[in-house]
Amino acid sequence: MEQTSGTAIVWFRQDLRLHDNPALSLAAQAGRVLPIYILDDETAGKYRMGGASRWWLHHSLASLDKALGGRLQLFRGPADEIITRLVELHAVTGVYWNRCYEPWRIQRDIAIKKMLTQKRIAAHSDNGSLLWEPWQVLKGDGTPYRVFTPFFRKGCLQSAPPRRPLGAPTAIEPVSDPQAQTLDELGLLPHIRWDQKLASHWSVGEAGARETLRQFLDRGLDGYKEGRDFPARANVSRLSPHLHFGEISPHQVWHAASAGPDNRDRDHFRSELGWREFSYYLLYHFPDLPHTNLQPSFSNFPWAEDAVALKAWQQGRTGVPIVDAGMRELWQTGYMHNRVRMIVGSFLVKNLLLHWHSGERWFYDCLVDADLANNSAGWQWIAGCGADAAPYFRIFNPVTQGQRFDPDGVYTRRFVPEIAALPDQYLFNPWEAPEAVLRDAGVRLGETYPAPIVNLKASRERALAAFQSMKSAS
Ligand code: FAD
Repeated sequence: MEQTSGTAIVWFRQDLRLHDNPALSLAAQAGRVLPIYILDDETAGKYRMGGASRWWLHHSLASLDKALGGRLQLFRGPADEIITRLVELHAVTGVYWNRCYEPWRIQRDIAIKKMLTQKRIAAHSDNGSLLWEPWQVLKGDGTPYRVFTPFFRKGCLQSAPPRRPLGAPTAIEPVSDPQAQTLDELGLLPHIRWDQKLASHWSVGEAGARETLRQFLDRGLDGYKEGRDFPARANVSRLSPHLHFGEISPHQVWHAASAGPDNRDRDHFRSELGWREFSYYLLYHFPDLPHTNLQPSFSNFPWAEDAVALKAWQQGRTGVPIVDAGMRELWQTGYMHNRVRMIVGSFLVKNLLLHWHSGERWFYDCLVDADLANNSAGWQWIAGCGADAAPYFRIFNPVTQGQRFDPDGVYTRRFVPEIAALPDQYLFNPWEAPEAVLRDAGVRLGETYPAPIVNLKASRERALAAFQSMKSAS
């Protein structure tokens, strides 16, 4: 074991990068560094990472370890116990981390900070993942915003601009711990290797994140505002998992995207980063966001229970092509385009009348960008029960959504190949196609591709009636 006096622990969490990492930069100035990551499923409880996130984490840790010259120390178990042992063994002078905003993490970190203070060990927490701290952006009366536009335009943009990104520390003198585990011992990869299909879609790790940003900006932000709604177009960045795991910081993305003259596309891209801030803001100020409707009237909503319909939705076998395309994109790539997230979400909570929690849980398990703040806020928005949510009565029609946002059917045909030969006119509504058209395309509804599991018109009316009954009851 190395010499152990004057060691600083850097606790990596959702900041798996060397550049623009305030905690790492500060600790590197303090002397020797013990760089650690702790897989803390025990404290996370029901918010422990889902399968796709664990796959991503495995590869992201491998990449960070490589960048640190093979010196990242991995642990599994309750973070408070592990940190207590490490500070005692290594004569640690300070523990450094970048803040996380999930309620369970906030509580845990407060307790760890208290324990360190009692031991007279410095605890340094910094901001590595938000452009504006949630407690710094408040309305004139000191209460939090609930509506996005004033939150972003007034609260954020009119306060101090996001800080410039930091460079990577030039030299780190790393220390190791005898009880550190190997990456394989963390057991992040699934036993049945369903994850192999994900690999070809992503370049996990800090270098991959930086390259993804570079390519996105090289393609240019022109057309982002309109093009971001079309799932077959290359207008979006696909940075969300990199941002979630902190392989790149929002500061790096913000400043890189801000180079050049302002225009509505650049502005719109920055406002999407603003939506990410808003989700974290809501989670911070309303920690019940993942499980409680922000609009209390929704506690009376008559949700249905239908395990068969839920399974069909999860498997992308609802018989509604754009919905099935989205759910299969999710399963095959760990990602789903934002427009399609809204379409499949609306279909689940409105046409199927299933609780948004069941959609939120499935996304949390299957998305590589699964993020407690963004996912909970996204589902509350879709269900109409969130802050600044889409009104419940705005029910997406998946046929017209498909026709409008996938006009050539490129996206839908890619993920639902069994109906690819249908003409555009019937691609999104095969149940309306004449028998001869189906036959020519080799489609037999109910055999080669499911008949729709609900009637769109009748289920829309049922949803509106349920909404009315909720309003009358409240
Ligand atoms: P871009 O268009 O390139 O946007 C750049 C970045 O801005 C994104 O990487 C993301 O960090 C942020 N962003 C963009 N749109 C949103 C948005 N609507 N809300 C919050 N942040 C946004 N995003 C997640 O990161 N994790 C989730 O678990 C998640 N769950 C969602 C669930 C539902 C039901 C819905 C409707 C949306 C959800 N989103 C989630 C938001 C959004 O769909 C993704 O962030 C976006 O599709 C990521 O693709 P991109 O990186 O190419 O986005």
